[in-house]
Amino acid sequence: MFCPKMLINGEQVSSLSAKTDVIYNPANQEPVAQVGVGSRQEARLALEAAKNAFPRWSATSAIDRGEILHQAALEVSKRVEEISRLLTLEQGKPLKNARREVLASAQVLEYYAEEGRRNLGHWISSSGSRSLVIRQPIGVAALITPWNFPVDLLAWKVGPTLAAGCTFVAKPPSLAPLAATEFVRAAAEAGLPAGVANVVHGPGREVGAELVENPISRKIAFTGETETGRWIMERAAGRIKRVSLELGGQSPFIVCEDADINQAAAACAQRAFSNMGQICFSINRIYAAEKIAEDFTSRLVEKTCRLRLGDGFDPEVDLGPMFSQALRQKTRDHIADALAKGAELLCGGREPAGDAYARGYFFLPTVLSGANHSMRVMREETFGPVAPIMSFKTLEEGIDLANDSEYGLAAFAFTESLRTALYLAERLEAGGVGINTGTVMDLQAPFGGWKQSGLGRELGPYGLEEYLELKHIRIGL
Ligand code: NDP
Repeated sequence: MFCPKMLINGEQVSSLSAKTDVIYNPANQEPVAQVGVGSRQEARLALEAAKNAFPRWSATSAIDRGEILHQAALEVSKRVEEISRLLTLEQGKPLKNARREVLASAQVLEYYAEEGRRNLGHWISSSGSRSLVIRQPIGVAALITPWNFPVDLLAWKVGPTLAAGCTFVAKPPSLAPLAATEFVRAAAEAGLPAGVANVVHGPGREVGAELVENPISRKIAFTGETETGRWIMERAAGRIKRVSLELGGQSPFIVCEDADINQAAAACAQRAFSNMGQICFSINRIYAAEKIAEDFTSRLVEKTCRLRLGDGFDPEVDLGPMFSQALRQKTRDHIADALAKGAELLCGGREPAGDAYARGYFFLPTVLSGANHSMRVMREETFGPVAPIMSFKTLEEGIDLANDSEYGLAAFAFTESLRTALYLAERLEAGGVGINTGTVMDLQAPFGGWKQSGLGRELGPYGLEEYLELKHIRIGL
């Protein structure tokens, strides 16, 4: 069985306690790997290694760091097949999507290889003095990531960390650490000095907590649940550490009267069900203008019924299993709650029948109509393949409903009117607004949330700023 090791100070390290965990394939519950379980001790060793590597790495010129990042991107691209297969095995997503994720992660490294070279300063002339403003790497960064996009979400942090001149300790998710570890290993083998990139496996409440609490880490970059983010922020406050948090979402999708209904339904089916709804900016709440609600609903149901479920290694499938039994049960609970409160089940709502699905956490993509805000599915993050639809009479009502959430990661709207598009884009309370598209993600643009969806931004030049400290140098003449 595959037994990936931790990476500490350039060495492959086994668990000091010799304790191991088995990683299972969510498509059939077969064991796929055995992973050593780290503890606070391994986390401390990794932090020390990152601290010792920091002076040299931060003093390396941005041009040279960029060269190594280009090489790292190349190494990851060369190993795309191997890393993608691990990702499908541990997470369940279709192999074609896993390949897309790993290639996108290589692109992130490629992007920051260049972006890091544009970390320029300012020169300010005053009477009797001059001021220089420079940006310097913050120090050792702790990178803590979830299981839904374990490679991509780590790349969003690794790229700017290295480009800024910081060193890091990564803690991948305990239940899906394989592909993320191989991604860092591939990047490290491209010529990173020992100790610059470290990976420690183990439980978040122990390894993750040490990375957050230990004085060596100066920056915490976290993606995961809002509750965990809140805990991290509280703990980091003790030492006023820099924190960026990418947390939960509950994204609204507004379909206006004048929308291209077919395109809206296609984008909705894609974004609500991709990765089995286990995406932070998945479409979770659909608000359709009363006049077109019926037409939109029937097209969404038709497109949803065409989605093919199965083992991620089958090239024909669109959707794999859910990640865990607990998440599948939460999805069932949210659907049952909605039906009890008056929603109508239009498709899905259960596991698919047949032997091929018997041992995995499969669940049919589900469309509900007649939703309202008393339902959990409209208030809480389901993190499952459910698309509840509610109709609205006026655009103002639609906007108010969309903004009636404690989350604010993404919001979407379909309209053919430029005036309505701009109005909606400005009124919707979210870090990213998609108009006539089902995504808010672009490598060069900021990604992050308002309200309880997070703090700080990833990607683009904004992502680099998160790992830099500003310094003003005043020179008297
Ligand atoms: P969790 O918050 O449970 O875990 C995320 C990571 O944090 C894991 O590596 C986990 O380790 C670790 N962790 C858990 N507890 C602690 C702790 N006390 N201190 C430090 N680290 C800790 O999230 P999930 O893995 O369940 O991921 C799903 C969530 O992520 C959803 O809410 C989703 O919305 C959100 N997400 C947000 C995104 C965004 O960009 N806004 C993108 C993708 C997902 P371990 O695995 O060992 O528990």
